[in-house]
Amino acid sequence: MSTAIAKKKIPLLDLAGIHAPLREEILAEIARVVDSQKFIMGDDVKQLERLVAQYTGTRFAVGCASGSDALLLALLAAGVRPQDRVLTTPYSFFATAGAISRVGAVPVFVDIEPATYNIDAENARRYLERDPAIKAVIPVHLFGACADMDPILEAARLQGCAVIEDGAQSIGAEYKGRKAQSMGGIGCISFFPSKNLGAFGDGGMLTTNDEGLARKLAALREHGSLKKYFHEWVGINSRLDTIQAAVLKVKFRYLDEWTAGRQRNADRYRLLLDGASIPLTLPKAASWQTRHVYNQFVVRCPDRDGLKAWLKENDVGTEIYYPLSLHLQPCFKELGYVEGDFPESEKASRETLALPVHSALSIEDIEYVCDLIRQFAGNSVQAAL
Ligand SMILES: *Cc1c(COP(=O)(O)O)cnc(C)c1O
Repeated sequence: MSTAIAKKKIPLLDLAGIHAPLREEILAEIARVVDSQKFIMGDDVKQLERLVAQYTGTRFAVGCASGSDALLLALLAAGVRPQDRVLTTPYSFFATAGAISRVGAVPVFVDIEPATYNIDAENARRYLERDPAIKAVIPVHLFGACADMDPILEAARLQGCAVIEDGAQSIGAEYKGRKAQSMGGIGCISFFPSKNLGAFGDGGMLTTNDEGLARKLAALREHGSLKKYFHEWVGINSRLDTIQAAVLKVKFRYLDEWTAGRQRNADRYRLLLDGASIPLTLPKAASWQTRHVYNQFVVRCPDRDGLKAWLKENDVGTEIYYPLSLHLQPCFKELGYVEGDFPESEKASRETLALPVHSALSIEDIEYVCDLIRQFAGNSVQAAL
């Protein structure tokens, strides 16, 4: 049946392949910062802030130490206080809900939409209309594609609650032609190495069109001070290192090229797997997701664990984002959620698998992964007979 294929090793993410061509350029930039000794808030931070503001179509960008801190700073700047309720999705990286708890507020979840894995916006809208005590809402643009923002923005405006976009995975994504991180009051970006624009360590950024918020965010990342040793607010220490900003400035120039590579690879998966009689649901961009940047290419498979094990056996890296919904995390037990509260999120956590999609993959690599998936499907059919 299936012809034997030569073995290859395909990691989920190949940072070496992505960084190799830039090695000299980046090392020269790092050496420049080292020689300047301006490790904290050097010029590169401001320059990167300007580039990202421009790229996201916002007026202001504020660097910080991580995407997680960006969320925390955004909540602080939005005036979220202990006991306030903040609406978000149960299907995200932990930081989304963790930041809410960290400021003493209470995460409130609404389930996701099964096709996009993003928060069900109509549900979120209804929830916001019902519960005027919600102080902020954090839609997450998961896997590189935007949540359905209009119903959320509209309801939040009517209720006077803040909208904070968790765009950690979605730099460059667009919603009905509008840029991610430009639609809510504050946008949050992560430069964790596995994100589409990754630093050589941790890093993050906030975006906003509001000058007052920009000022407050810039102060909050330096212990709430606008003037050294005078503190308007109680903030935290969360600056973006100059070295990371210098690295990111180089990598930023390649971001659109890498995104195009991810999109090309996603298209290739579709071409090779769509319509094949295999039990696999491919990601499909919703009509409003006008630019999907594929931080992850996530498929759904009833025998997800079997597929993962089979690909691992064949040296293809995959990952489960995320194996346990946020409402079921042990640390949120006190919130009182139980299994069955968010069935779509729980189902996604059992069925989804991220396949390699990064820009350093060749056509042959994608073909190879698709061949393995077809073999897996064939083996499963045989096993069932
Ligand atoms: C990565 C990520 C974060 C946190 O970013 P860090 O830079 O790792 O702190 C927050 N939210 C989502 C959805 C993420 O994927």
